Amino acid sequence: MSTVFIISAPSGSGKSTLVKKVMAEDPRLAFSISYTTRAPRGAERDGEHYHFISRDEFLARIGRQEFLEWAEVFGNFYGTHQSELDRAQAAGKDLVLDIDVQGARQLRERIPRAASIFILPPSRHILEQRLRARSEDSDEVIERRLRAAAAEIRNYRGYHYVLINDQVEPSVERLRAIITAERLKQDRMREHVLPILETFGAGETDQAPEQD
Ligand code: 5GP
Repeated sequence: MSTVFIISAPSGSGKSTLVKKVMAEDPRLAFSISYTTRAPRGAERDGEHYHFISRDEFLARIGRQEFLEWAEVFGNFYGTHQSELDRAQAAGKDLVLDIDVQGARQLRERIPRAASIFILPPSRHILEQRLRARSEDSDEVIERRLRAAAAEIRNYRGYHYVLINDQVEPSVERLRAIITAERLKQDRMREHVLPILETFGAGETDQAPEQD
């Protein structure tokens, strides 16, 4: 059984760094590569960071109901293709999705078992510093991202977990802990528990366990 990890965060909160570090050392995680209508940035490559497609193609794919979720973010369309989940399941992997708050809402409805994590910067001031240090954006874009962050952060209560990204390594540790805890949930452990029960000659029962 694959676990779906939904991760959302305002831009500049360090989400990509945390996700990359956790994924690099956990071969059981697969990253969902989204479709988008935005243009590639810097070193981004098609099929690796995103599938870059035209607006017309995106709309056609919406029409064919190919997306598990999709949303318009900063004037561009972004969507998660159903095949990402199918592929992860076939490979016995858990799927990590980096999606915005609108997409997360849709996905939680479609996949109620999904675990969702909201990453917060420690403060607005630190987020602004990080955005400026990236020196990718103009002042105007930074202002827009800060306003968007203020709106996005209000949605944190819809998520199961909150991670305040103060320092990279402790945050990576906490993200790993969340992933481990989700994998130890009783319904995910069943396939491992049943063979143990068999060694006791006991099958599963729906009855409440007896007290010692
Ligand atoms: P960026 O353009 O900076 O890569 O991403 C902008 C925003 O789009 C981020 O908040 C990111 O989480 C979100 N995003 C990326 N892919 C998807 C997707 O497939 N669906 C949704 N709903 N949001 C996405």
